Amino acid sequence: MPSKKTAKKAKKVASKRAPKAAKYVYSFGKKTDGNAKMKNLLGGKGANLAEMARIGLPVPGGFTITTDVCVEYYKNGRVYPAALKGQIDTAIKICEKESGKKFGDRKNPLLFSVRSGARESMPGMMDTILNLGLNDKTVEALKAKSGNGRFAYDCYRRFVQMYGDVVMGVQSRTENEPDPFEHTLHLVKKEVGVTVDSDLTEENNKEVIKRFQKLIKDRTGGAFPQDVQKQLDGAVSAVFNSWENERATLYRQKYGIPAEWGTAVNVQLMVFGNLGDTSATGVAFTRDPANGENVFYGEYLINAQGEDVVAGVRTPFPIAQLANDMPKSHKELSVVRKKLEKHFGDVQDFEFTIEDGKLYMLQTRNGKRTGLAAVRIAVEMTKQRLMTQQTAVTKIPADQISSLLVPIFDTNAIKKAKLMATGLPAGPGAASGKIVFNAADAEKEVALGNSVVLCREETSPEDLRGMIASDGILTSRGGVSSHAALVARQMGKVCICGASDIHIDYASATLTAGKIVLKEGDSISIDGTTGEIFAGSVATAPSEVSQVLAGKMKAEKSYTYQMFNQIMKWSDKYRTMGVRTNADSPEQSKSAVSMGAEGIGLCRTEHMFFEGDRISYMREMILAPSVAARKAALKKLLPFQRKDFNGLFKAMEGRPVTIRFLDPPLHEFLPHDDASRRDLAEHLGVSPEIVSDRVRALHEENPMLGHRGCRLGISYPEITEMQARAVFEAAAQVLKLKSKIKVKPEIMIPLVGFKDELDNQVAIVHRVAAEVQKAKGVKIDYLVGTMLEVPRACVTSAEIAKTAQFFSFGTNDLTQTTLGMSRDDAGSFLGKYKDLDIIPQNPFATLDQEGVGSLVKQGVDGGKSTNPDIKLGICGEHGGDPASIKFCHNAGLSYVSCSPNRVPVARLAAAQAAIEAEA
Ligand code: PEP
Ligand code: MG
Repeated sequence: MPSKKTAKKAKKVASKRAPKAAKYVYSFGKKTDGNAKMKNLLGGKGANLAEMARIGLPVPGGFTITTDVCVEYYKNGRVYPAALKGQIDTAIKICEKESGKKFGDRKNPLLFSVRSGARESMPGMMDTILNLGLNDKTVEALKAKSGNGRFAYDCYRRFVQMYGDVVMGVQSRTENEPDPFEHTLHLVKKEVGVTVDSDLTEENNKEVIKRFQKLIKDRTGGAFPQDVQKQLDGAVSAVFNSWENERATLYRQKYGIPAEWGTAVNVQLMVFGNLGDTSATGVAFTRDPANGENVFYGEYLINAQGEDVVAGVRTPFPIAQLANDMPKSHKELSVVRKKLEKHFGDVQDFEFTIEDGKLYMLQTRNGKRTGLAAVRIAVEMTKQRLMTQQTAVTKIPADQISSLLVPIFDTNAIKKAKLMATGLPAGPGAASGKIVFNAADAEKEVALGNSVVLCREETSPEDLRGMIASDGILTSRGGVSSHAALVARQMGKVCICGASDIHIDYASATLTAGKIVLKEGDSISIDGTTGEIFAGSVATAPSEVSQVLAGKMKAEKSYTYQMFNQIMKWSDKYRTMGVRTNADSPEQSKSAVSMGAEGIGLCRTEHMFFEGDRISYMREMILAPSVAARKAALKKLLPFQRKDFNGLFKAMEGRPVTIRFLDPPLHEFLPHDDASRRDLAEHLGVSPEIVSDRVRALHEENPMLGHRGCRLGISYPEITEMQARAVFEAAAQVLKLKSKIKVKPEIMIPLVGFKDELDNQVAIVHRVAAEVQKAKGVKIDYLVGTMLEVPRACVTSAEIAKTAQFFSFGTNDLTQTTLGMSRDDAGSFLGKYKDLDIIPQNPFATLDQEGVGSLVKQGVDGGKSTNPDIKLGICGEHGGDPASIKFCHNAGLSYVSCSPNRVPVARLAAAQAAIEAEA
């Protein structure tokens, strides 16, 4: 017999030879392996269950199967790593030891819940199974132990249904077929004359279970498994498989969650909220997630299981009522509420169950919230010292700040509107549109250019596409944590849920409240801030924040504005990039300045040529038969341009104004139909043939790559000359005003690919500048630079920067020329590209960092190498997109420029980028 020492040594050698298997299973409960920092491996739910167990909150024990297992499972063609089985067995033994129960035991059975848990929560997208471990035998043990046969068979019925649906795939076979389990349950309830599930007796439940098992057998040919181990294997696989189901995939695409992350699976001891009237289950938020107010917020159901609350089948009670129903538990929950916020430093959204008077915590996560709530929570938690200013700034999804600028109903219009019902306010803002009753119709109507409000009894993840398309969402059932509310809040959609006075009838496509009956296609208006529902369409008005910004409301009158302003101030404190706006008129410019724009990053001068008489002069210029005639036409345009620039300079009060010279191909200014061409010929006093010939001559196969940008100014230098003269003469006028406004024009030459192109245009600009300054006796502080919007410019930026005083990346054209995709019609295939994950985000909205981004970096590096002081900006649409703004910060740009309404988003995103880069 080998000595103990040699055996140990042999074991050591063996373990050296066979590398130790990775740890795939982490326990939580009395023995806890993980913590909150391990979200990538344990998923959000698993990591936070571990953390709650660590800080002494009452968490039923269990274990988490890691996301690594999910990743390997898919990599190996849906096969699990060999070591997993043994590790699960060990974890079950720990649960058995801690609970004193046994899995599959006929006397004292251990039951589990099995739930998904990805790194980022994906509410309702993946599958869950409760009461696992029940079979025809263990259900009797549960009955004996609880002394409650109704309860035991209620649990068993729920389990057979969930297992049959999720694991064995027994579901509706067509869109119109009702859920087969719900339908069977409904029939039995009708037969025995009860309306609520919890009124079914033990015998009734047994009957339902019998029918469920038969249904499973008929549909699948297989029996519902009595072997608990088999049940567990099936449930775990179902959760892993649900990572790739259609709704989870769609959700991931919408929120940019990579498929490679995988989900974890949490297996946890069951606790029962359906044990009778001393039991309950609920969902709560530490603050109001709709408006951010610091109140305990949530809802619960007595004698129910967790899914009942979110499913919206019974309308739950508000959490405040628990203080009367179960005062001890309410007190305990209030303590938990404070402890969670303090420990996690953010609003928590948690699930709890009260089993016969004892409180258990089943989950906690950072609460999803509306943009309005995000701002209020960040400001107030910082004031309470639960957050730092930097954290506050990073906690608000930059896109969501724009929801504070969303329209509200026009106060006069709303006075006349017909209030038909109220529901629970779940997503703030005002929406008005046509009634649609299903997701497909929502998408169809929106494709036709209509606004819609999606009206459903309750929503399910299948409705996601329709919810994305709709302006507003209205449900007649379900509480503030129902699917509709959660998803709408995250999407920033206007939403009302649980409007129980409304009756929705899909069959007759009607929505009824009292005597008011609305049909599909009729207009409806909803206020997701107050919960009011109005028949007919109601005009909307700007938000409080917009009204304060426009000077129509006093700042002291609007708490929302004060919070918005606080976040903007903190953002400005931490951001290092400037934020400018793309604007072509004094009105747009003023609005952008009120939102914090620090200059104009792009004024597209072509937009100025369409108004009133100008288009005729423009056409005269284009059709001019000689240089002299063209100059004559340009002379007529000059005063208009000068006036426009004068207006812009005054509106911007000394802030820099980047003026981009004429860019689009000239045919865009000419009429396209015969009648308009004839009118133009008559107006110009030429024959219609002359106009038609010129239109034909200007026709281009590929106008985006044609005679446009600086190519126009090079072909027709008199255009550049006129524009330069207009800029400098306007600057001179403003400089001479008594008010002493400073002027900083930055002239930007478009579509440059060669240094010589820029040199050619810059020479004209400098000559005109000198002439005007001399004639007017003023000194104008101006710059001349270029857009970097074709790949050649980025590649040769070192050369171009010898002339350019600034670069502004025109990422709209740069994306189109780099990807070889037209920005006007790429939509016809980009959807498919997104579905297949070839290009996960629309590259015209979110910068293609690997491709276009690498040209941007090259452009920056080259430019700085020959002109270290060069100013660098971006003025493509990406300048208002948070992910692209982060890229710009990291690439070293000095500013971003975006549309006026995106300015607050850009300020916040720029601050977040700076804070993240520092961390
Ligand atoms: C660009 O190309 O990114 C740009 C800002 O110019 P435009 O969209 O006018 O072509
Ligand atoms: Mg461009």
